[in-house]
Amino acid sequence: MSINKEKYEWIINKLEGNATLVAVSKTKPAEDIKALYDLGQRDFGENYVQELKDKYEQLPKDIRWHFIGHLQSNKVKYIAPFVHLIHGVDSFNLLKEINKQALKNNRIINCLLQVYIAREESKFGLDEKELHGLFQLHELNELKNIQITGLMGMASFTEDNDLIIKEFTYLKTLFDKYAGQQTSNLKLQTLSMGMSADFQFALNAGSNMVRIGSMLFGAR
Ligand SMILES: *Cc1c(COP(=O)(O)O)cnc(C)c1O
Repeated sequence: MSINKEKYEWIINKLEGNATLVAVSKTKPAEDIKALYDLGQRDFGENYVQELKDKYEQLPKDIRWHFIGHLQSNKVKYIAPFVHLIHGVDSFNLLKEINKQALKNNRIINCLLQVYIAREESKFGLDEKELHGLFQLHELNELKNIQITGLMGMASFTEDNDLIIKEFTYLKTLFDKYAGQQTSNLKLQTLSMGMSADFQFALNAGSNMVRIGSMLFGAR
């Protein structure tokens, strides 16, 4: 067994029941997921559509699967029948496609909007202006088979802890700003931020969902 049971228990303890742990299992074999499942873990995160689909088919059906990668519109259909939460949504067009596939499967799919908070150019996500614009879109109300349940963000990959804290705090401010604005398919409750290296900063800044991979499953 190549999962780190001590670290798992240590993380669960740190969360104090205030945040959900999404165990990020990308590139790791189904046996590792099953080992963590046997310790009681039910939320798992994957980045690649085909890998997620394969693991869904092999593993227990009460696992809640989170898609945390960058989702292409033409692949939504493969995960729409079972995905629990899609974290990285960053365009209205993608929301529209998720809505369409959710409708086909007679489901409502929960989505988090990804907000760009890092200094790096490579990270996906909406900036503050784009987020604001999306929330103002009238057509958003017509997407009856999605629920926007929160925001997701990734801090800069840096040793500069002050910068990481600043970025997480900024996302929490945006989250609070829009948490009051509720419509039929928009109700922000989940703030997904924090990974192996920075989740304690994220928790301090108000995260209630952390996505942790390498600390549980080892380096990829
Ligand atoms: C891989 C990944 C994680 C987990 O990263 P670790 O550093 O292994 O904890 C979290 N979030 C996203 C979006 C990822 O792609």
